[in-house]
Amino acid sequence: MTHGSGQSPHRSGPTEKCGVVGVALDDRAAARPLYYSLYALQHRGQESAGIVTHDGFQQHDHVSMGLVGDAFDEADIERLNGESGIGHVRYPTAGSLDKSCAQPFTVSFKSGSLALSHNGNLVNADEIRDELAGLGHAFTSDGDTEVIAHDLARNLLEADLVRAVKRTMSRIHGSYSLTIMHDETVLGVRDPEGNRPLCIGELEDGYVLASESAAIDTLDGDLVRDVEPGELVVLHEDGSGFDSYQLVERENTAHCFFEHVYFARPDSVIDDELVYEVRRELGRQLWDESGIETDVVMPVPDSGRAFASGYAEASQEAGAGTEFAEGLMKNRYVGRTFIMPTQDERERAVRLKLNPIKSTVEGKTVTLIDDSIVRGTTSTQLVALLKDCGAEEVHMRIGAPPIVAPCYMGIDMATREELIAANQDVDDIRDAIEADSLSYLSIDAVAKALSRSRADLCLGCVTGEYPYDIDGEATDREVERPVIEGADLAADD
Ligand code: SF4
Repeated sequence: MTHGSGQSPHRSGPTEKCGVVGVALDDRAAARPLYYSLYALQHRGQESAGIVTHDGFQQHDHVSMGLVGDAFDEADIERLNGESGIGHVRYPTAGSLDKSCAQPFTVSFKSGSLALSHNGNLVNADEIRDELAGLGHAFTSDGDTEVIAHDLARNLLEADLVRAVKRTMSRIHGSYSLTIMHDETVLGVRDPEGNRPLCIGELEDGYVLASESAAIDTLDGDLVRDVEPGELVVLHEDGSGFDSYQLVERENTAHCFFEHVYFARPDSVIDDELVYEVRRELGRQLWDESGIETDVVMPVPDSGRAFASGYAEASQEAGAGTEFAEGLMKNRYVGRTFIMPTQDERERAVRLKLNPIKSTVEGKTVTLIDDSIVRGTTSTQLVALLKDCGAEEVHMRIGAPPIVAPCYMGIDMATREELIAANQDVDDIRDAIEADSLSYLSIDAVAKALSRSRADLCLGCVTGEYPYDIDGEATDREVERPVIEGADLAADD
């Protein structure tokens, strides 16, 4: 992945940029389970999909642009021999929509083959790339995944697998959940802050690593647990189990709260919390903090649905009796990749995507629930749509705090100039979107709904202070950025 605050011009909301998976099976080809799990992770990246397998002698790979269903055909799956493998779905940053950045990334070197799938974004990739280039490593992309691959390959020339991964982890700084295949051994690594999710599942005949537990469900497997922040998990090649190595420990984690708010599937369990229930709890908190009695409460589909159901439930418990209603119908054939090159066309896109149901809107006071406001374009359109349809009042409630800063950890959010809340306060935004009232959820309510302290969450995009040392940005904790030039590689072994 490339450095990450770039914004593709045709998206209206934040975009997750990757999903990763890895499997080791006893006596069954890995390709098909990998393919199914990538389907389950399609929401995490729609621009390219890839699988690399190993049959004990050599790697086989197929990486292609497009959705999983378009990237593979039956013959591709048949060709991917071997009982272990890793996979990836990806959404690249603007300007790198080409196959050289698609993953898994593969490299062959003196002591074997490596394949890597990465979810997240390093903030010191350039420093390591410069050092390795100076040592003669040739790079084929500007992505940070290739930097990790080269660094790991170099360490594997001098150290065993576990020490090599530990050395690489001591050098890379930023967000990473990785599935790696070294020859036929599949590993999972999660960065010491646990920024992006990664979990372990058990199948009848093997083990699986995946960004989200929904991928494990798809394979009829059982979620074993999350990979811990700073942990390396090595799957046994015969599918009989896995070994765990806690390679780095930190006092606090920095889980991305937006995974629970928006990116992850509601049916996934991440860091012990079912995403759907977290969203319902966020909706309940929203009622507690800024509930308003209206005739109906309705979600912006699909992401606002769980929030709205929690909000409506809490309002009914409080005796307000705000009725939950589906007032906006989604055209499910307009995908997330729908291309909208100009602002004017982006505005029109809302009508293509969503249509109001007149009987639930006309003559009513409405609370409209969404998970976030990025630029404000969609919210403005939705408020206008409901008012055009006869809504008497439209009150917006947002299940997250205002987004005031970009994300450098692998989420395609927007630049500061594009973020409406980076430049305007809540009253100004309410006026801009022409809502009758507008309230966001507080950061403390988010922490409460996630059952975490603020110190264990990444809140960079809502505070402007990050858990990593990023050039030109403030940090929210003591952060040690690794020294790259001249560091003694073996010192921490
Ligand atoms: S900055 Fe925001 S979107 Fe990015 S990792 Fe942190 S919480 Fe998640």
